[in-house]
Amino acid sequence: KITLFWMRRDLRLEDNTGLSEALKSDEEVLPLFIFDTNIIAELPKHDARLTFIHNQISRIHEELKVHNSSILVKTGDPIAIIKDLIKEYEIAKVYTNRDYEPYAKERDAKIKKYLNDNLIEFKDFKDQVIFEKGEILSGSGTTYKVFTPYSKAWLQKFYETNLNPESWPLKNNFFTSPPLPIPSLKDLGFETSPIPIPTLKVKKSLIKNYDSTRDFPAIEGTSRLGIHLRFGTISIRKLALFAEELNKIYLNELIWREFYMMILDENPRVVDQAFKPQYDKITWKNNKEEFQAWCEGKTGYPMVDAGMRQMNSTGYMHNRVRMVTASFLSKHLLIDWRWGEAYFAEKLLDYELSSNNGGWQWAAGTGTDAQPYFRIFNPESQMKKFDKNLEYVKKWIPEYGTDKYPDAIVEHKFARKRALEVYKKALDK
Ligand code: FAD
Repeated sequence: KITLFWMRRDLRLEDNTGLSEALKSDEEVLPLFIFDTNIIAELPKHDARLTFIHNQISRIHEELKVHNSSILVKTGDPIAIIKDLIKEYEIAKVYTNRDYEPYAKERDAKIKKYLNDNLIEFKDFKDQVIFEKGEILSGSGTTYKVFTPYSKAWLQKFYETNLNPESWPLKNNFFTSPPLPIPSLKDLGFETSPIPIPTLKVKKSLIKNYDSTRDFPAIEGTSRLGIHLRFGTISIRKLALFAEELNKIYLNELIWREFYMMILDENPRVVDQAFKPQYDKITWKNNKEEFQAWCEGKTGYPMVDAGMRQMNSTGYMHNRVRMVTASFLSKHLLIDWRWGEAYFAEKLLDYELSSNNGGWQWAAGTGTDAQPYFRIFNPESQMKKFDKNLEYVKKWIPEYGTDKYPDAIVEHKFARKRALEVYKKALDK
């Protein structure tokens, strides 16, 4: 008999909670990865994230050779695949790490039920966060709805907890197997993406200075670890301990990540609804040409356009600029934040449903944030403050300052007033 360890967004052997637990079992452990066709069928052929995942699976495949083992890689619907595997192998248990997105929760519940009906144990573990929703509760035992008190409670618990990532040594109890075949990207219907992926390198000096560099998009002032956190190629426990030692502001960003994961886990409806329901009464203008201009970085607002062009060509946009572009779409253009959210989801290498949704709802004023909706970003003053020398703008907009650069799509003062009226009307309904 064997224990299957199903890897999803925890693509590493080191300090992987579910895997370490699986390796303690009596049975030998066979790691499994499924290219889930329910997810990948919707992605464009050249999606860089597929190249990234494929590279990571290939790396794990190599690492497991050292243990005389391999990773089993399948493509299809996970439920159907697990059903087939229990016929093919004598499986005692299926272990995995928890995923808090609505689709994953539903899928796992179905698989758990099916396995239990067949007398196979299904066990899932906390791995991608330091604390899950039930662990950070207010004095009255409810989940938080606002970040600041959540982060205080989170930090208090963090200092009380011994994370000790080293307490999960890799015991060699892998299933003995010759290297199993891995489908190529082409077999999966994808092409290798030319977009470079940030390397998994935690730069000590960068994190040390993070609080003074993180707001300026022209400099390399943030860690670029988003994609590694998303797919679990880095351990959150190790990173959080590192952050705690080097820079509390950086640690605070990791708390934002968990806050939005908790919000999504607790309120799956936010996937397509405003966190504050009243805001779903907004009458969006949803002008398609204006949306197109925003997507292409042709709004005539340099900070917005530079950001969109950076994302379109690299799969990355600086956080400050994500806030400016998202605010501009929802407030200046009065386009439904869900359109922008979907566009970011397609383009960002570090796309994370919970953070993207949280970031968009924050910018549109529909989310958990206590800030009133009438604080509207001025893209011009944001540029003056955070890209004073226009380095970022000029890097991404070569025609900036020439007559080839478009005029502003909408006048700021007019747009601001219009947004205030439309939002107010929705809240008065
Ligand atoms: P760093 O600044 O080095 O931060 C380190 C890590 O902390 C990040 O990788 C991320 O995991 C986490 N983090 C930092 N800021 C936030 C934040 N505000 N909310 C949640 N987590 C945070 N982040 C994503 O990971 N995926 C998304 O799809 C995403 N979409 C966003 C959409 C909008 C409209 C906005 C305003 C923000 C979004 N963010 C998203 C948050 C933030 O912009 C990115 O995490 C950050 O820019 C990634 O770059 P980095 O890895 O260099 O981050």
